Amino acid sequence: MSIKTLFLDLDYTIFETRTIGYHHFADLFNVLDSVNDRFSPEKLELVKDELWKYTFHEVAERYGFSNQMIHAYFSRMREMNFSFDISPYPDYRELQNISLPKYLITSGSEPIQQAKIRALGIESDFIQICYDDRMQGSPGKAGIFTQLIHQDDLDPEGILVIGDNPESEIKAAKNLGLHYVLIDRKGSVDFKPKIQSFAELASFTY
Ligand SMILES: [Mg+2]
Repeated sequence: MSIKTLFLDLDYTIFETRTIGYHHFADLFNVLDSVNDRFSPEKLELVKDELWKYTFHEVAERYGFSNQMIHAYFSRMREMNFSFDISPYPDYRELQNISLPKYLITSGSEPIQQAKIRALGIESDFIQICYDDRMQGSPGKAGIFTQLIHQDDLDPEGILVIGDNPESEIKAAKNLGLHYVLIDRKGSVDFKPKIQSFAELASFTY
């Protein structure tokens, strides 16, 4: 495999998202209480927990948020200044040591994803950072991969997509016929090919 370019995911690939701490989002999620016209209070708590696990777009679509709820959420988000105290996984250094051009493609609300990247201090490791923010009309990860290939005239045969989600970046890579590897830090997913740490990447990028 002659890999020339790396496409990377952010959440649970470069850092453990849960280490941000739920309290940073409590104000944002709680804005839904006052405009909730869809769910019982018990159900709303469950939905908020889902917002902690999945992107807003996925949750809003799955549960059918009203326009009022969507609007209130984004108004509040725009007022907030997110400042997180987070670090990349210890093996991130192994990724930095691979001297191939890297692109970061991350799904979720852009202001929040931006705050994560700022807090991690990893901007300079990437040629370009792309926000797959479906609420801003993103074409999805496969669409962004295709745009990058055209924009920088990349050889699709030389791209390796690395991420933790078989249904997101890995699926996009499969659909486009790109090389991919799942990063499964807990070693709990039945999938091939996979690695448990960036230290194992060298065998894919020789
Ligand atoms: Mg991820």
